[in-house]
Amino acid sequence: MKAPISVASAAALLAACATMSDPGPSAGARLDATRGNNVTGSVSFTPKGSKMLVKAEVRGLAPGLHGFHIHEKGDCGSGDGMSAGGHFNPHKKPHGGASGAERHAGGLGNLNADASGVARLEIEVEGLTLGSGEGNIGGRGMIVHAAPDDFKTQPTGNSGARVACGVIVMTQSGGTSRY
Ligand code: ZN
Repeated sequence: MKAPISVASAAALLAACATMSDPGPSAGARLDATRGNNVTGSVSFTPKGSKMLVKAEVRGLAPGLHGFHIHEKGDCGSGDGMSAGGHFNPHKKPHGGASGAERHAGGLGNLNADASGVARLEIEVEGLTLGSGEGNIGGRGMIVHAAPDDFKTQPTGNSGARVACGVIVMTQSGGTSRY
């Protein structure tokens, strides 16, 4: 029979882990296919200075570009993604791409799927926060669209149907939650 780990050593181990990874707040969403689609994936959000590092991996896409946005409501209940509402736009700006001043904070540009339908994205964007502030993305919706975002059409980017939907939940980076 093994000796149990003492409370003191367990606490020391936890403290060491916390110091090493310094997790801080982060958030993520699991993306589930909307009705009639097979698009799935995950996205993570990690603050990096004044910006937010966004990493996504999405599968089951048609090859090419797909609009990728944070939407207002963390509600995928309608089955077609429409219950997530419009783009998350706390700063009341016109729609644009993932950079520049004139953009919805929730506009993350396009995913670019390869021939096998897999898209990976890693970008840093302005205007998003975690847990507090008007740019808080906790509890918002994450949407993958069928068509490319043209960054011009207002207010949607004309990116068509919603093929995957997720809810952004707060996590701890470096922890066991892997999105
Ligand atoms: Zn959208």
